[in-house]
Amino acid sequence: MTAVLDATHDPAAASWVEAAQDPTTDFPLQNLPFGAFRPAPPPQPPRLGVAIGDRVLDLAGLAAANLLGAELAPAAAALAEPHLNRLMALEPALLQALRRRLFALLHSSASESQRAALGSLLHPLDRVELCLPVAVGDYTDFYSSIHHATRVGQLFRPDHPLLPNYKWVPIGYHGRASSLVPSGAAIRRPCGQAAPPADRPDSAPLFGPSRRLDYELELGFLVGAGNALGEPVPIAKAGGHFFGVCLVNDWSARDIQAWEYQPLGPFLGKNFATTLSPWVVTLDALAPFRAAAAARPPGDPAPLPYLFDAADQASGALDIFVEAALRTAAMRQAGMAPHPLSRAGARDLYWTPAQMLAHHTSNGCPLRPGDLLATGTISGPEPGSAGCLLELTSGGRAPLRLPNGESRQFLADGDEVVFRAYCERPGWRRLGWGECRGRILPAGA
Ligand code: CA
Repeated sequence: MTAVLDATHDPAAASWVEAAQDPTTDFPLQNLPFGAFRPAPPPQPPRLGVAIGDRVLDLAGLAAANLLGAELAPAAAALAEPHLNRLMALEPALLQALRRRLFALLHSSASESQRAALGSLLHPLDRVELCLPVAVGDYTDFYSSIHHATRVGQLFRPDHPLLPNYKWVPIGYHGRASSLVPSGAAIRRPCGQAAPPADRPDSAPLFGPSRRLDYELELGFLVGAGNALGEPVPIAKAGGHFFGVCLVNDWSARDIQAWEYQPLGPFLGKNFATTLSPWVVTLDALAPFRAAAAARPPGDPAPLPYLFDAADQASGALDIFVEAALRTAAMRQAGMAPHPLSRAGARDLYWTPAQMLAHHTSNGCPLRPGDLLATGTISGPEPGSAGCLLELTSGGRAPLRLPNGESRQFLADGDEVVFRAYCERPGWRRLGWGECRGRILPAGA
């Protein structure tokens, strides 16, 4: 992972876009996250953009208006694409030059003529449609929160919640890229098979709408430069293959999952929908928020050599906070805000992003620009830090009480789940991801 601190991280730097100066904004000048958007009607293909304050800057328009300069000419074609894939595969030096150029154009020291030229390329965020930022080719979901793995394991195996491979292998499974949807897309409750009722274990399984629909609060690491088939990426270089980070909601039907997952792992309980945040915060922007890998408790094994790198251990984790909130249909009708459910830190994860990528390629598996490696549910050690309802309600046995008197074991139709993420450290400008949201629709006929 690149971790170059430069003038673009200066917490004192200000933008002439007024809303970027709001101390609570997710999109200050120091962030500059990438995404894709459609301007207001008429309908047209998605365009790439960068969020700044309450605006999105049209990158294709910026390149077409010759506002990037000769140094960035090789990036112009990538900026005209509807997805970030081609941009993500550019040389790190070119991406850093693009970041510096965007920073300069939006900085308070930009000239009047530069501001005037950018004026028509800045769209109000509340008037554009935000799209999937990346055309994901392959999606892998890991299981890197040991707190999540332990709590979920306790529900199924109270005597030995963690399986013996957990502390050696970054556990993951291959997800489904075709059902990735952008934030705001409705999520239809899936139908599927569930185990026979507990009081009639010999009867046929049930088929119908899931009764145990859940969310999973995750981060997604997006691959920039890929690797060739048969050529593993060594751990020391693995971090450099990531372009940026988005939020991921890995919607999960627990009843379908519980019935189908043995012996080959998750399948239809997971692949009906996965929501991505519209904004991808780059690893360059995250340089001030690097952290040491979580300390392993005494007695835990050291990672095998192909997963161990001193620099990765020293600064390969990221100090990102993630939050989940819920708003039911009744809360929405009453004008109530989403109710906070949990907050956790990604620096507690058992495996770093570089360890996940090194492990993924260790058998020669190729990763391509735009591939998505998700962390798995991010849960912390404390109560209130569990990143899914399965944990928060102990498998449905301890329903959540909501402030309007409603309760939930799992998600009801009309429920809306809202994720947020942010980085906050003394001495640096706070930055965030905006929202990643989805609302549950009733099952289809
Ligand atoms: Ca997951």
